[in-house]
Amino acid sequence: MANQNSRVAPNLMIAGTPGTGKSTLGKELCQRTGLNYVSVGEVAEAADCMDGYDDELQCGILDEDRIIDELEDVMSQGGNVVDYHSCDFFPERWFDIVFVLRTDNGVLHSRLTERGYNEKKIESNISSEIFQVILDEARDSYADGIVHELPSNTADELESNLDQIIQWLETWKMQH
Ligand code: ADP
Repeated sequence: MANQNSRVAPNLMIAGTPGTGKSTLGKELCQRTGLNYVSVGEVAEAADCMDGYDDELQCGILDEDRIIDELEDVMSQGGNVVDYHSCDFFPERWFDIVFVLRTDNGVLHSRLTERGYNEKKIESNISSEIFQVILDEARDSYADGIVHELPSNTADELESNLDQIIQWLETWKMQH
């Protein structure tokens, strides 16, 4: 199995509360760099890696072991941008860098309302964002120094995040 040092391109994780802009950033990054965009939610649906449905939060429950098996080959090759809200159950060796997107409550509330989420789901996501649940999870699960928090409220911040990540990719290439 390819280890981190033998990959031809790095694997990047983009995590964050739903609505913080993971798919927007991930897709644009892949368009600009040619990296492979991996939406864990979409892969899980397509490959039947779901384990029931959470009626209260109105979302599918991911079978974590099955999705890891499903993604193992593509992750071993490197060059992936993985989009999923949480990241604590993935193998640590998969990722060279982890970004956690952060959005202000008011902005996030508007985005989730626009998405048609029910009040309970909006409240649960906003409080998760306030208590920085995903950021803490990422920091607990990955090595110091590879987890980076990125603000994700405005178009300017999106551009600046893209610039920073592309810069990081250039540096990675020079070092490998
Ligand atoms: P996620 O994948 O984290 O659920 P999305 O990428 O679907 O979030 O973004 C949620 C909404 O917020 C979309 O309507 C998207 O256009 C918008 N959005 C995402 N990032 C930004 C940003 N940096 N500035 C302004 N709007 C954004």
